[in-house]
Amino acid sequence: MLPYGHQWIEEDDIEAVVKVLRSDWLTTGPAVEEFEAALAEKVGARYAVAVANGTAALHLACLAAGLGPGDSLISSPNTFAASTNAALYCGARPAFVDINERTYNMDPDALDRFLGHHTGESKPKAVVPVHFSGQPCDMERIASIARRADLVIIEDACHALGAKWRDSQGQWQKSGSCSHCDMTAFSFHPVKHITTAEGGVITTNRSDLYEKLKRLRNHGLVRDPAHLQNGHGAWYYEMQDLGFNYRLSDLQCALGTSQLKKLDSWVARRREIAAAYDHLLGDVDGVVIPYQKENTYSSYHLYVIQVESRRKVFETLRGKGIGVQVHFFPVHLHPFYRNHFGFRPGDFPIAEAYYEHAISLPVFPQMSDDDVHRVIREVKAAARNA
Ligand SMILES: *Cc1c(COP(=O)(O)O)cnc(C)c1O
Repeated sequence: MLPYGHQWIEEDDIEAVVKVLRSDWLTTGPAVEEFEAALAEKVGARYAVAVANGTAALHLACLAAGLGPGDSLISSPNTFAASTNAALYCGARPAFVDINERTYNMDPDALDRFLGHHTGESKPKAVVPVHFSGQPCDMERIASIARRADLVIIEDACHALGAKWRDSQGQWQKSGSCSHCDMTAFSFHPVKHITTAEGGVITTNRSDLYEKLKRLRNHGLVRDPAHLQNGHGAWYYEMQDLGFNYRLSDLQCALGTSQLKKLDSWVARRREIAAAYDHLLGDVDGVVIPYQKENTYSSYHLYVIQVESRRKVFETLRGKGIGVQVHFFPVHLHPFYRNHFGFRPGDFPIAEAYYEHAISLPVFPQMSDDDVHRVIREVKAAARNA
């Protein structure tokens, strides 16, 4: 089965990890800060905090944003449940606004309407735009709407490492640079752009958030004498917040630093594969290729087509050894969300209609041209027979 996504581990990655295994530090040694510095520089952010996974990144971002009971977090229904689960971990409520029917990203107009007409007991405190499939959201509009409502902005860029967009001044803005948000979360799960096995990072330009995130990652502990409330001696540290053990190990960070060197060429390869799909599937009856908004540079974590008979096309392709997948079943329709928060089918009709027809085709840098053309042949045949 040709999977829809796959990591790429080369000899230099293995050597980087083995080097750490032979060193004095397995966790929280020099490789962590090296990876954080390299990642921050790559995406153009001042600070980066490496954590155990992308979900932990979102959780800590929500805690640093001060989310708690009585607050709500607004996101897109077209995402992985972790984007809003992060709010639930803090005791806050989830809220959604529908997607744009072409980009499949959060619709800024829907956000504006939601904030204008919002009623209910919880107060919107944060918004989490998700750069679905790797195509950046309209952050200029989302940020201006969110700032008016005093929301903390946390970008879920788990699909968008290596993506960028051009603002109205003509400047390219990289995902993760936090030019239009407070914090950005990334994941290094093996299907994402680079991997540390499990892993994630939060980037920010705000020193207050950076300090808070670092503390929350490590049980809320403070060791710096300048910030201690009590002084006992050189051994002393104190817990000032309820934090977690969300650390990322040196082994994993060494892998991340090695992988990061390949990001640009891997994103370029993803875009080459997407261009081949666009070119050869663009005029196939019954197949809609993903719209790319002008001034966006997608990093194509996913390549999603829309087809009429989704189940049939999906099963045909799986039967032919093409490991297609579906992203995403709308979050608000998961039983947990329906049972606990009362969401219903019909609440977010564009995301629901999108889901009914969506199929993610394989896209990952190590795919050969033969693989790409096999997928194209099989998609054409499946669409013809559906
Ligand atoms: C992968 C992903 C996450 C969670 O990342 P993990 O590292 O698996 O915890 C969150 N949001 C989105 C959109 C993702 O794709």
